[in-house]
Amino acid sequence: MTADARPASEPTVPRTIHADRTAGRLAIDWADGHHTEYDFPTLRWLCPCAFCRGEAGQPGWLDSRPTLTADQVRLVDAALVGRYALEPVWGDGHRQGFYTFEALREHCPCAECARARPAAGV
Ligand SMILES: [Zn+2]
Ligand SMILES: [Zn+2]
Repeated sequence: MTADARPASEPTVPRTIHADRTAGRLAIDWADGHHTEYDFPTLRWLCPCAFCRGEAGQPGWLDSRPTLTADQVRLVDAALVGRYALEPVWGDGHRQGFYTFEALREHCPCAECARARPAAGV
């Protein structure tokens, strides 16, 4: 899958997004040359939807620290939402989460980004 290339070098513009279902990883190459790789469980834990994250002050499903099943961390498909987000489809049918490119970049798990990030209570 290739995202539309925009003539910008903004860090939140993906040049290519590749889901490797064999390796269980989602790789993103950004317009500024940075490379991000998520393993599927990490990505699943980041689901930003109201069900997973909660809303209106209510805790979400992920806040209860559920044990995720193999299906729940199996990425079966991923669609682009306009030019700003990715919508993964999980093995259990969950697909409510719109992961904005901004958020995907912000949570980049690489060592470089982890160092640059203020330590959050993970
Ligand atoms: Zn969700
Ligand atoms: Zn990074």
